[in-house]
Amino acid sequence: MITLTGKKVSEGIAIGKLSFFKRDSKEIRRIYVKDVEKEVQRFQKARKKAIQELKELYETASKEVGEANAAIFEMQQMVLEDHDLIDKITNIIVEHKLNAEYAIQTAAEEFIVTAAVNGKDYIQGHDADVKDVSNRVLRILSRTFKDKMLMDEPFILASGEIYPSEAVQLDKTKVLGFVTRYGTINSHTAVLARTKGIPSVIGLGEALKKDYEGKTIIVDGFEGKIYIEPDYTTITKMKQKQDNNHTKVQNLERLKGKENITQSGQKIDVCANIGTREDIENVLRSDAGGIGLFRSEFLYMESGSKPPTEEYQFQVYKLAAESMGIKKVVIRTADIGGDKTADCLDLGEDRNPAMGYRGIRVSLDKDDVFKTQLRAILRASAFGNLSIMFPMITSIDEVTVAKLMLEKAKKELKNEKTAFDEDISIGAMIETPAAVMISGELAREVDFISIGTNDLLQFTLGMDRQNEKLDRYYNTHHPALLKMIRIITNNVHLEEKHVSVCGDMAADLELTEYLIQIGVDELSVAPNEVLALRKKIREIQ
Ligand code: PEP
Ligand code: MG
Repeated sequence: MITLTGKKVSEGIAIGKLSFFKRDSKEIRRIYVKDVEKEVQRFQKARKKAIQELKELYETASKEVGEANAAIFEMQQMVLEDHDLIDKITNIIVEHKLNAEYAIQTAAEEFIVTAAVNGKDYIQGHDADVKDVSNRVLRILSRTFKDKMLMDEPFILASGEIYPSEAVQLDKTKVLGFVTRYGTINSHTAVLARTKGIPSVIGLGEALKKDYEGKTIIVDGFEGKIYIEPDYTTITKMKQKQDNNHTKVQNLERLKGKENITQSGQKIDVCANIGTREDIENVLRSDAGGIGLFRSEFLYMESGSKPPTEEYQFQVYKLAAESMGIKKVVIRTADIGGDKTADCLDLGEDRNPAMGYRGIRVSLDKDDVFKTQLRAILRASAFGNLSIMFPMITSIDEVTVAKLMLEKAKKELKNEKTAFDEDISIGAMIETPAAVMISGELAREVDFISIGTNDLLQFTLGMDRQNEKLDRYYNTHHPALLKMIRIITNNVHLEEKHVSVCGDMAADLELTEYLIQIGVDELSVAPNEVLALRKKIREIQ
């Protein structure tokens, strides 16, 4: 047995086989094939496997979130059984002698566009699901034989480093845990692991060798350790730890439906942070009071070479709005940049990406892309309780211009007679010291303020949140940060506006009492951190 120690990123125990991440081209190539019969069989085999996976997903989801929410997987099966789509794919393979991957992608795109004229009512408004389905089949097709052996069962993913744009595209039903050689606990890959509740240990260094491919390992996300080819005693101990954690999680279930209230009667809202449409199910299960931060940039990061369309975004935001009912859903406009790169947006080279071309700066520059997103959010606002939030704000001007753009989008929709919430709430994020200093003025311009402590800390300390060498200086309890949050809260309250904390600090149970005491109105954390936070709040005097 080999024991390696790294940095803990996301709690939990995972046991499984190790599989190194294969960075292959995500681009679908148009390739001529000689044996079209064999190609059709490849497609059919992948299609049947995808149907099987969806059946299993339906079973699990109906048990966990109810049949109504699971129906989406049933609908996705229908797409894979639709003869028009199957014929179209087969036709491209046979008639044009082209590869299955290309045929699937082309046929699925056409299928979406022609759905209305072909009377396919069941996929109306479900472009995203057709895309999901074709991605599922493509994923199955892309597995090499070696991958397949390991990846047919869930596995533990290993890599030098996994970039957020890659992490967001992983098949989460298959990834039991994450282990990497490099990386920091403040990166967006780490944020994703926590949002998904995937046990992870990073920064294991060169000791994490390629030779361990296929070996059984245990990830202890509580201690930041991994065990390669664990001995019997370690397996027993870790299984016990896993059971204990399971019992702890089950005990927390009893807090569902209870208030987030301290012993002395002080209340605070607890919401959840998400990044993709798959996370919505976790929020429903978590009993959060709403979605306090939807990191919408992840939609751009998983979108390939073209930005997500208005229609696609509309459907995702609508799903979030409808799933949450009267509870609020805060959609943060795309915070692209820094470590969150997206193939679909050309950001150019930045010498210092964290302090570079990112967040609202990109949106205000690429106004077509921004307006598309605003239109999608506004359209979805007719289906629930949506709010819009602008990231990386440094000046009042940025908020003014963003609001003007929002007005423009509203006007367009009004002219088109498209429904939306005229009074949609607008929020600004405070993630820069500049925004802290003008937090009162900013609060006057918007309906609410949300503090992004992850970025605020890196800019306050002048330390890149991604730089491993700075780990020991990166003090998440730095008095300067705590003081800033108090100042912001006071300034925002003077304007009688709502203030939340949505950075990782919100889930730091050692700081809960302080945040409540200074009067923060809301904490927004990863879905599986909601109940532990509620427990902590209820224990505070
Ligand atoms: C933050 O900076 O705290 C935040 C919530 O945004 P992100 O972590 O996505 O940069
Ligand atoms: Mg941020």
